[in-house]
Amino acid sequence: MNKLLLTLLLVPQISLSSALPKQLAVPGGIVNIELGSVETPAPEVFFQDKRVLILENDHRWFAVIGIPLTSKTGQHAIQVKTEGKTTELAFDIVDKDYPAQYITIKNKRMVNPNPDDLKRISSERPAINKALNTWTEQPVEDLLFSLPVKGRLSSPFGLKRFFNNQPKNPHSGLDIAASTGTAISAPAPGMVINTGSYYYNGNTVFLDHGQGLISGYFHMSKITVKAGQIVEQGTKLGEVGETGRVTGPHLHWNVYLNKTKVDPALFVPELSETKTEPVQ
Ligand SMILES: [Zn+2]
Repeated sequence: MNKLLLTLLLVPQISLSSALPKQLAVPGGIVNIELGSVETPAPEVFFQDKRVLILENDHRWFAVIGIPLTSKTGQHAIQVKTEGKTTELAFDIVDKDYPAQYITIKNKRMVNPNPDDLKRISSERPAINKALNTWTEQPVEDLLFSLPVKGRLSSPFGLKRFFNNQPKNPHSGLDIAASTGTAISAPAPGMVINTGSYYYNGNTVFLDHGQGLISGYFHMSKITVKAGQIVEQGTKLGEVGETGRVTGPHLHWNVYLNKTKVDPALFVPELSETKTEPVQ
């Protein structure tokens, strides 16, 4: 067989089998559930009353479900609506014990905001929520992301956090440490849905990748995109900085599925060493 023909035969298989993120059926993880042949119409899928992303992989529909960090272990279910009928598909979530992290923040107002700060924080909430509640009905072809910054992975997702010894929300993203000014690039195609300067997040960009898959980039020194702009994988979004609640320059990277923060590393093949089989 000649080389070109062999390449043509291999390439589609590679792209079809690589479209799903790594499955990790734990709080803060992702579950991929096969729904049936793409010969049937695309179903609408819900988890805890929130729309779930579906995509085509190897001629099958798959639901890609974000599991909240607060989820209980044990059995959960999605509702699958096709042609007026609703069926339920169950799956199991197992425990993951995320380590604790103790951080000292010098700026005390970043741990215990004063009344003016609290006013600012609540005034920022609607814009952030609007970005996170975005749902665009469009086919999502690939859920494989590149790393948005070249740097050291400094804090993984899910750490139980203590700021100045006070228990706070768990770490909702993946931190990549790099010097101020290092380029941040889009890990996948999408649209800029919001940019802003927020109290905790600092200079921020949110991208919509379709069907509730949203990514966020925090603490930037500089933003180089505008809301409404279409980006490709690799488009520069801005630069690493230390704005907002930080101990040093880094990118805090969030990824959301069905309005749920999940571990961004599951979308990056170089960080998720093994592929796992979807559960049924
Ligand atoms: Zn972070």
